[in-house]
Amino acid sequence: MGELYEARAWELREMLRRREVSAVEILRAVRERVREVEERVRSYITLTLDEAERAALEADAALAEGRDPGPAAGIPMAVKDVLCTRGILTTCGSRILENYVPVYDATVIGRLRRDGLTMVGKANMDEFAMGSSTENSAFGPTRNPWDLERVPGGSSGGSAAAVAAGEAIWALGSDTGGSIRQPASFCGLVGLKPTYGLVSRFGLVAFASSLDQVGPITRDVRDCALLLSLIAGHDPRDSTSLQVEVPDYLKAMEGGIEGMRVGVPRELMQEGLTPGVRECMERCLAIFQELGAEVEEAGLPHLDYALSAYYIIAPAEASSNLARYDGVRYGLRVEGEDMLEMYGKTRARGFGAEVKRRIMLGTYALSAGYYEAYYGQAQKVRTLILGDFRKAFERYDVLVSPTSPTPAFRLGEKVEDPLAMYLSDVCTIPVNLAGIPAVSIPCGLEDGLPVGLQIMGKVLDEATLLRVARAMEEAIGFRERPPAGRGVG
Ligand code: GLN
Repeated sequence: MGELYEARAWELREMLRRREVSAVEILRAVRERVREVEERVRSYITLTLDEAERAALEADAALAEGRDPGPAAGIPMAVKDVLCTRGILTTCGSRILENYVPVYDATVIGRLRRDGLTMVGKANMDEFAMGSSTENSAFGPTRNPWDLERVPGGSSGGSAAAVAAGEAIWALGSDTGGSIRQPASFCGLVGLKPTYGLVSRFGLVAFASSLDQVGPITRDVRDCALLLSLIAGHDPRDSTSLQVEVPDYLKAMEGGIEGMRVGVPRELMQEGLTPGVRECMERCLAIFQELGAEVEEAGLPHLDYALSAYYIIAPAEASSNLARYDGVRYGLRVEGEDMLEMYGKTRARGFGAEVKRRIMLGTYALSAGYYEAYYGQAQKVRTLILGDFRKAFERYDVLVSPTSPTPAFRLGEKVEDPLAMYLSDVCTIPVNLAGIPAVSIPCGLEDGLPVGLQIMGKVLDEATLLRVARAMEEAIGFRERPPAGRGVG
């Protein structure tokens, strides 16, 4: 292990327990790192270092008395600014919430607080989680720690960049169509989108409620399993939360993958993959075989329509969810002659271009006369996609694909072309539509930029997912770090 700020959470946890390091020392190392690189990377919208300091002191006091301070204690975390944090600004990357201070914690935050949460800050993101590059943040873009001219991915780009740059040890993101996995892949990290309903959405600012999930962004699979086990589980305050036992993911992670059946959806290996991504995939498939798994091409024909269905369903839900920002209840208010004018001015000033585009798309798709043709049709496609996955999982334990067709692109490269931006999530979106879990792990480099392998699993089978991810992580042996010079190494 090098510097403290580069360590994995589980390593730090063991060191803390053995009293080889104190929580305050770990936080100091991360704080120094923030001071050094934040100006260049811009991972955070709000820093909460004073609160983190208090949490670290508490952790150290508990340890000194021989008490367990909790599994998250003293491990600096970045939290995507889409999760409500009591008494701490929660902007969602939007002007319309630029002064919004929640009076309550999201359930995942409440749980982590009980486990000793040491939060460095609220991480930057695309406005309302709409985007794939973090360029849609009202507070300016985050940069990729591997190459400061490139995007970190999105919408959880701040969370991923913070971890990759050493400004946090681990992070929480949210994923509606790829927003955990794609930035994890662009930043050389592990990112997991849980089964829909496994992690509470209470206090997660809604984008598309039938697709949104909170999940971990970490440096390795063990940390991912650990953080998932801390946030998963039933929550009576989220009506879509599943009443299930949460397995021991750390234990489930071990055991290898010999004899497993791995399917490769042909629809996710089509045109648009860069040569490096294709090469990495081929190497991964060979490794699967070396580890004793059976690899086979699979056909999930309706995945070809996933992107189109998503860009009806997600904006439709968003247009309805975002109706609440009216200048009355939350955040920004711009006065007008009458109430309607006030609504209009508030929303015109408060929302950015992409959010407005989604609201218009969604409102149109839901309007009388078009509802069946667009929204109804998209829901039918969604059912067909779910059916494809169900059938595939009768035959395969997991399915694999690239996480994104390309490594991190340049800042500004796709801002003028929404369709090109949307295509960045072509491999991740089907997973959200089907509600299944998927994880991205780093599997190689193309021109010095990380490439991600996506592993998709059966509903609530995070255990198998993590087991495959762990075995592949070990066999791939990805050890690269952001370089100095073009990155923040
Ligand atoms: N990039 C996709 C979108 O813009 C997915 C975003 C997300 O997962 N939150 O909708």
